[in-house]
Amino acid sequence: MLLTITIALSVALLLTVSKLVNHRRALRSLRLALSRRQPFLRDATPGASGHDWDAFCSTANELITEVVTLKKQQSGQLTQLEATLGNLQEAVLVVDDRNHILLANNALQAIFPKATRIIDQRLEVVLHSVAFLNYVDAVRKGQGSPQHTVEFVDDTDTRWVEVTGSTIPSQDGSKGKWALFVLHDITRQKRLELVRKEFVANVSHELRTPLSVIKGYVETLVDGHHDMELSDRSRFLATIQRHTERLNSLLEDLLTLSRLESINPGLQRESTSLRSLVGSIVDDYRSRPAAQNHVIDSEIDPAIEPLLIDPLKLTQVFENLLDNALKYTPPGSTITIAARRRTEEVEIRVKDTGPGIPQADLPHIFERFYRVEKGRSREKGGTGLGLSIVKHIIQLHGGRVRAESQLNEGMTFVLTIPSSKTSN
Ligand code: ADP
Repeated sequence: MLLTITIALSVALLLTVSKLVNHRRALRSLRLALSRRQPFLRDATPGASGHDWDAFCSTANELITEVVTLKKQQSGQLTQLEATLGNLQEAVLVVDDRNHILLANNALQAIFPKATRIIDQRLEVVLHSVAFLNYVDAVRKGQGSPQHTVEFVDDTDTRWVEVTGSTIPSQDGSKGKWALFVLHDITRQKRLELVRKEFVANVSHELRTPLSVIKGYVETLVDGHHDMELSDRSRFLATIQRHTERLNSLLEDLLTLSRLESINPGLQRESTSLRSLVGSIVDDYRSRPAAQNHVIDSEIDPAIEPLLIDPLKLTQVFENLLDNALKYTPPGSTITIAARRRTEEVEIRVKDTGPGIPQADLPHIFERFYRVEKGRSREKGGTGLGLSIVKHIIQLHGGRVRAESQLNEGMTFVLTIPSSKTSN
């Protein structure tokens, strides 16, 4: 009897355990089906049975089918949108009601090349701009201005973008509204505008000083020339002359720069011997009074073939560099123009033994109006435009220019010009 009861209990226990195992297996299959959005097959759950189980399976399958259909619809609509907007020149961005990015076309990727993952990311993770997020908010509330300029700043770069936004009905049937933005990159225009403003401010500043000096001295001469000492009058006139010359050089340099930067800079190339060109410039300088206390040398490799260059413009380059060397090096210094052949180019070095300039100034000296010692440059009649002109002329010849310097060990300007066969 006891044996019968024990056997019956064991069988019942075994059946319960096996049922539990089957249910666990069935639940695992259900979880897998849900996560893969695949129909839940009853065959995958042998052992789980009963009316309730059947009803549960079919409800789960209906839900899965519904989700799959919705997803398909949504992605179909997005694909359609993507196809329409994908190749537009204007950058387009679509976000859902929680600011998840649903769509970003190629043009948007081009504006933000550093953003490698955009789709499905939150807006603030991809585009770091509080101003833009505020604009998105305003658009959602119907308060966004039709067009808005936003600045995107990261560690190395600033981009200015014009944004127009509006809400659109969500395409997946959800309640929240989506928002669509059209972005137009205006960084180039903004940068040009900044350069232009800075340039106008610099030119005005440069013109104002000599003009006010001239005005002051002329007024004094007009009022007091009757009873003025002759020596004072001569001193005043000499000052007026010096500042008039400064104005003249400034205007000439400005005209030269504007010609060089124009669409047609008027480069007149001809086959020219660098050795004879440098030779005649050096001879000319050696005879000038301003160069009497300096030594000017040239070391041009005779093997350099004639270069296809504009001799007048190249002369201007050497004159600017020699004038600077004479201005900024003390008497007794040596200035050397040396040139040697390199593969497919000629390297020219204009070197002096003067004070040089600090390393920190080196990257800037080819900028317009940049001076290392402002007072000294002006006092020597400098316009701050000479090296900018040098850079433009060399670049027009397809070449490069750089400056090397060790403080108190002189200055070397290195010009590289393509040799005739390769020059463009
Ligand atoms: P500037 O008309 O003032 O000479 P540049 O554009 O020719 O303008 O030169 C820019 C600045 O570079 C100068 O103001 C000067 O401070 C510095 N510089 C140029 N050449 C030399 C040089 N050979 N030695 C030392 N400093 C120089």
